[in-house]
Amino acid sequence: MSYDPDNIFAKILRGDLPCHKIYEDDNTLAFLDIMPRAKGHTLVIPKSPAQNMLDVRLEDFTTLMATVHKLTPMIQQALDADGILLQQLNGDAAGQLVYHIHFHIVPRFEGVPLKHHGNQFQQEDILKKNAQILTDYIARQS
Ligand code: 5GP
Repeated sequence: MSYDPDNIFAKILRGDLPCHKIYEDDNTLAFLDIMPRAKGHTLVIPKSPAQNMLDVRLEDFTTLMATVHKLTPMIQQALDADGILLQQLNGDAAGQLVYHIHFHIVPRFEGVPLKHHGNQFQQEDILKKNAQILTDYIARQS
């Protein structure tokens, strides 16, 4: 299987689909998952095409990780999360749903169970509010 330029995240990168963006630089984009496993569940993607860890170029993976490294503590602080789960899935057998490589940054809160993966859409107004909290915090740190 080769990279499908019409996958959902490629469409988001082109602006053909909307997203709740929280961060963007020359190489990467971060936005909220529409079926979050927890409050503030963020997806970080490279702008360069790759399906997953099995075909990503080292240089694109490096810039992707730099953004994950930058955003993880900011998301933790902005939401006062008790912990952060990082998740990255490769292939159908691993549960990968979208074939444009991405990292999940999932804030964890004591006593709040993790929701199922890609299972339930979050209300638009809640996504909007959470994106605003994160965007404001990130802007203050920059
Ligand atoms: P994967 O299984 O590929 O690691 O996860 C893909 C993620 O993308 C899932 O958590 C799913 O909820 C999320 N997702 C699927 N479609 C969309 C969409 O159109 N917009 C956003 N923001 N997230 C999506």
